[in-house]
Amino acid sequence: VRALAHQSALQQSGPLLSASPRRPSYDVAALRQALDSGELVNYYQPKVSLRDGQLLGVETLVRWQHPDDGLVLPDQFIQVAEEAGLIDQLTQQVLRAALQQVRSWNDEGMALQVAVNISMDNLASLDFPDRIESLLHELGVPASALMLEVTESRVMSDPLASLDILTRLRIKKISLSIDDFGTGHSSLRQLHDIPFNELKIDGSFVRGVSHDSYARTIVEASLNLAQQLGLKTVAEGVEQPEDWCFLREAGCDVAQGWLIARAMPAEHLSGWVETWQGRRAELNAIGQQSE
Ligand code: C2E
Ligand code: MG
Ligand code: MG
Ligand code: MG
Repeated sequence: VRALAHQSALQQSGPLLSASPRRPSYDVAALRQALDSGELVNYYQPKVSLRDGQLLGVETLVRWQHPDDGLVLPDQFIQVAEEAGLIDQLTQQVLRAALQQVRSWNDEGMALQVAVNISMDNLASLDFPDRIESLLHELGVPASALMLEVTESRVMSDPLASLDILTRLRIKKISLSIDDFGTGHSSLRQLHDIPFNELKIDGSFVRGVSHDSYARTIVEASLNLAQQLGLKTVAEGVEQPEDWCFLREAGCDVAQGWLIARAMPAEHLSGWVETWQGRRAELNAIGQQSE
């Protein structure tokens, strides 16, 4: 299994993987041991304002620091965790680490909101909102500093089941984002009824949006819809300066992607902030020239 996993990690876009992209590669025992011995680490990717490049927050993305295979990406083990009933433990670990990190950034004078990805299985635990509330209380972090991201295709596969828990999270002042938007089947009614704060357009529509008319149609329609519903808009997977400019002109609020930064260990963030100041000014300037 390990050899296979290693191989598929090397050929991420290989035909084997794309034929069955959700195939688990690691076994349950290995993952359980990783969770117990603290081998899962939180990486952080900046979210910046498309208006002026200001750092607004970060999304935490979990990685498995595997003793033999190196850094393993979540696509290789999240589904295993879900199927083995380990996702609650995983989410609690990721949440705790993320909130502790936000607390220490805050103590250093950097007020950031952290976004944490959650699984639909987490929303099946009726005490999920209360557990988050006690964690926030224990760590001294305000609810407004936390955003939870749920994937559109998952949440909309059973919107009624999640409506109650999501509403209770919102009542506790925790923000909600609908992730990978455009890949699921939300109806207007569902989008209206579930109290989301943010709509995050899937990277598959964002990459190359400035010169792809199909992607442009999806992105513009998504931005329009979000605006009507009063949701903040985020574009994920921003890789090119032209896409940044396009999104800004189109009125998207926030950008995230490799153009800005890859996900990084927490201790690299302050160094990134310094180099970003110059690059941010350059990006803003490109926009101005085209006006
Ligand atoms: P996501 O939440 O949609 O996260 C965005 C993914 O796109 C991340 O992959 C990120 O590293 C990658 N990405 C960011 N910017 C760019 C870009 O400019 N270009 C390209 N090509 N990719 C970019 P990652 O870290 O491998 O995570 C994959 C998915 O795993 C996430 O998708 C999320 O659904 C899930 N995931 C990550 N961490 C957790 C977690 O703690 N819990 C749960 N339940 N799921 C998680
Ligand atoms: Mg996400
Ligand atoms: Mg996403
Ligand atoms: Mg995505």
